[in-house]
Amino acid sequence: MKTIFHLDMDAFFVSVERILDPSLEGKPVIVGGDPHGRGVVAACSYEARKFGLHSAMPIRNAFKLCPHGIYLHGHYKEYVRYSNAVKNLLEKKLPVVQQASVDEFYIDFTGCEDIYGSAPDFAAALQKEIADKLLLPCSIGIASNKTIAKIASDFKKPKGITYVEPGKEKEFLSPLQIERIPGVGKKTFPILRARGFRTIGDLAESSPDYLSTLLGKFGTDLWEKANGHGNDILYSEQERKSVSKETTFDEDKVSKHEIENYLFELTGKVGQLLRNEEWQAQTISIKLRYSDFETITRAKTLTHPTDDDKIIFETARSLFRNAYTRRVGIRLIGIHLTKLNHFFEQEFLFDDEELIRKRMLRAVMKIRDKYGFSSIQIGKSGIE
Ligand SMILES: [Mg+2]
Repeated sequence: MKTIFHLDMDAFFVSVERILDPSLEGKPVIVGGDPHGRGVVAACSYEARKFGLHSAMPIRNAFKLCPHGIYLHGHYKEYVRYSNAVKNLLEKKLPVVQQASVDEFYIDFTGCEDIYGSAPDFAAALQKEIADKLLLPCSIGIASNKTIAKIASDFKKPKGITYVEPGKEKEFLSPLQIERIPGVGKKTFPILRARGFRTIGDLAESSPDYLSTLLGKFGTDLWEKANGHGNDILYSEQERKSVSKETTFDEDKVSKHEIENYLFELTGKVGQLLRNEEWQAQTISIKLRYSDFETITRAKTLTHPTDDDKIIFETARSLFRNAYTRRVGIRLIGIHLTKLNHFFEQEFLFDDEELIRKRMLRAVMKIRDKYGFSSIQIGKSGIE
């Protein structure tokens, strides 16, 4: 059995704002921009939460509930800087760290007791060190898998430590409300409530068949989670080095347009692989083999990692156009993504226009991932 930590920074953006401006301490602080604008609350302090505010709520509604709050646009580059500082601190101590978002980390503590002492003692020391060195508060959940560790880190916030002892998973989960399970939200919550499910224990006592009738595969997963089972594998950045796909043609191709269509299809496949495993890639390479077997590769490293088909395809296509110079047929084309990491640039790091485009593309890519790559094409030939 493993020992997994989920470390979640408390009101992270607000905490960073308070480092930048200590006069914000103890006040209701809201990060998310103009209180009369169309945006949403990216983060709010615990003082603001007392008025019913929570993240992701429209900022105008927040303003109605808490007109005397301090509304800030946010220093997003600073958040990334502090996030990296937390990550570096964790990686110095433990070999397997998975960054799950800008302010959340999973750590595999299995077998580390001999070096660091018991898991709860180490958690307390870690929490103190992050508070002392980086002035940032966090909460930690410790359990035998990632889902329970995440539920546990949220159990006592802020500055909480919750340890779910091995064998006590069901005991811990059973009395909690169903919406504590990550993924039970707007869509699934009403369905479950309408059938009388209130606690995680209710789900555990139901059957996987019944839940899968209600919710499909998610229902079966939910039953597993409610019974204390779950994923305990961390995706650390060292494990996956690359994602690649290539196609060898039955007959050599000469038409640039045709080859680009193949490249487009390969892009969809590698993009889906990335998204399935929650990776983003920063370096994009193509491989080209001529009919006489001369093989060339070209690569480009982007400023930011991405899992966006549009960016990947456009980069690969321009590499291809520059590389395909000989008047000889092509027998193989491949795409190769490297410099992978798990860090998600969260949606609010983008301005509105970029955000909307990203959301739309993400929705399209989800449909493709589910129903196959040819189900949707945007623009004339490929993604425009
Ligand atoms: Mg957090």
